[in-house]
Amino acid sequence: MIHSLSDLARATPVLGASLKRADEDRRELARLLRDKKAGYCHCCRQETLFESIGDWDRDDYLCGLCFSIPRQRHLQMILDTYFPGWENASLHESSPSNDFLSRYSSAYSDSQFFEDAAPGTRVGGVRNENLEKMTFDDNTFDLFITQDVFEHVLNPQVAAKEILRVLKPGGAHIFTTPKHRTIEMSRTRVERVEGKIEDLFVPEFHGNPVGDGRSLVTWDYGRDFEELFTAWSGGTTVTYVTRDRSLGLEGEFLEVFVNRKPSR
Ligand SMILES: [Zn+2]
Repeated sequence: MIHSLSDLARATPVLGASLKRADEDRRELARLLRDKKAGYCHCCRQETLFESIGDWDRDDYLCGLCFSIPRQRHLQMILDTYFPGWENASLHESSPSNDFLSRYSSAYSDSQFFEDAAPGTRVGGVRNENLEKMTFDDNTFDLFITQDVFEHVLNPQVAAKEILRVLKPGGAHIFTTPKHRTIEMSRTRVERVEGKIEDLFVPEFHGNPVGDGRSLVTWDYGRDFEELFTAWSGGTTVTYVTRDRSLGLEGEFLEVFVNRKPSR
């Protein structure tokens, strides 16, 4: 006797096969929907679906529309939330690897570091600036952005101070860099011996938008990072941590640091 669709499917093999296929399709659809999270992306400023394309959410949890990654969305979210009107502030970005800031900023400038070129000149249309010794006047910018740059700077104690020099009083250096919870004291990974860089640990590289595409990791920052950065720069470093999958904010090393220059 036939009581249900599955009884019917068993009794009629052709129908059974198509029900099985429909079942597989349903399961596949359910998997796709489970892995995707609907929400708002601060990089492309629209409703989207977030999806992880790998095991490392920090680099793999993408916006389905603009392919931004979590730390980029978090930095834009901090700007949108805590710096309303930032789009009209004079903003400098060092070593940008995307256009999420430049597409909204009306007073945007950027620079990259080309070791062999003269500071302040242009290389292939891009301004050359060394974060440790910039050619900008004091009190030039409202906001200064570095995204995953500070782990590649040789002397961050110098660069942190230099950025505050070119910021206006009350301005902010807003940045990302990996802070390792497992490391108690921040440590340099390299040493300059007679003008040459020597590795103290097995060298590690990240992607670089210029040069040979590789950038040596020079510092591992640990739990003392904010204290250190405040002391280095003379500013006040505040850390933002946000976990919210509906904003696409998930993964390791998502901190956004805001280092303020004193108002006067
Ligand atoms: Zn997006």
